Amino acid sequence: MSQTSGQKKRISKRVEAIHGIGFARFLKLLHSMSKEGLISLSVGEPDFGTASPVCEAAAQAASEGWTKYTPSNGFPELRQAIARDIEKRHGITYDPETEIIVTVGVSQAIDLGFRATLDPGDEVITPDPHYICYPPNIRLAEGVTVRVPTDPSDSYALEPDEMEAKITPKTKVLLFGNPANPTGALMQKDVLENVARIAEKHDIIVFADEIYSTFIYGGAKFTSFASLPGMKERTLLLNGFSKRYGMPGWRIGYAAGPADIIGAMLEMMQHTMLCPPNSTQWAALAALNMDDEADFAKVLEHYDRRRQLLYTELNRIGLSTPEPKGAFYIFPDVSVTGLSADEFVEKLLLEEKVMCLPGDSFGEQGKQHMRICYATPYEGLQQALVRIEKFVNKYRQ
Ligand code: PLP
Repeated sequence: MSQTSGQKKRISKRVEAIHGIGFARFLKLLHSMSKEGLISLSVGEPDFGTASPVCEAAAQAASEGWTKYTPSNGFPELRQAIARDIEKRHGITYDPETEIIVTVGVSQAIDLGFRATLDPGDEVITPDPHYICYPPNIRLAEGVTVRVPTDPSDSYALEPDEMEAKITPKTKVLLFGNPANPTGALMQKDVLENVARIAEKHDIIVFADEIYSTFIYGGAKFTSFASLPGMKERTLLLNGFSKRYGMPGWRIGYAAGPADIIGAMLEMMQHTMLCPPNSTQWAALAALNMDDEADFAKVLEHYDRRRQLLYTELNRIGLSTPEPKGAFYIFPDVSVTGLSADEFVEKLLLEEKVMCLPGDSFGEQGKQHMRICYATPYEGLQQALVRIEKFVNKYRQ
């Protein structure tokens, strides 16, 4: 970021430090190209839209005058419905008055969560690869990201001993996405239990980003971290409506956790965002009140078919990848071409008009990988695979 010499620095060090993280370069490239024939496997949003009763609830709320500021932690009706949903899915009981805050997506919950808990220099341990936005949020809260490498050879399982070895007196938070973006890795219960033991031993807060917890395949079992004995007291459970309910643009999510942390987040909310958007909260309430489990099971069948197609075909082509068990991403190794992640993704876009994301945006462990999002119809994925195979054959070493 340029700073004119001789003038006072205008941009803060915090923001300078996050400059250039991510894949903005590719989005710029994408926007400069014709979209004709392009297959985008990049943006992590479901390909199903928001259900009509949800849209109707928001429209009705707005037309009835629900357009003013709301309580800073969200309407009580929505917090109560969130508490019921968590109880039903994971058997954890939260007090909707003091232990839940409605936020502008999980994104705002992450931001508030870190600013509520980190002092300058505090460390946050996270498995690598990780969601792109974790390190910038940690940095903006003046914390330091400490990465624990995970590996495709054991399906990106977090090794609790390696995590424990990273703990220092400055370690404040352990953060993970489960299932994970970008790998689709699902954390097994025994791993979570070991993480719980370590968190307790070293008195560490855990941020469990469970935004993909309903996207689980092949009979695998999801365990919510806060449901483990003693963990509710030290866990900030993050979840939202963007993925499960096809509502990314509505910008709504929540955090559930200990009253002191939720209270600190609320205090910041009161002075920053003021409140989550009004009619969106009624949309979220309608989403939770829908009886749509059977419909969602059908959606998952489609996603599972796509997952299996990619897993089988990418490995056949030579882009090796473990089987993802959750979310809607797969993270193949592109090193068979001798190209770096960046080169691979750029050339694939320019030469074959298939847009994926470079793995290095997701951490050190992604240098030889790309992220594919399969929230795209099956036929589109088949076409993309034909192009990817042609491309790999051209560059294969
Ligand atoms: N956490 C993870 C792991 C994500 O992948 C995303 C979005 O892709 C988010 C959080 C942000 O979600 P929201 O739309 O609720 O802000």
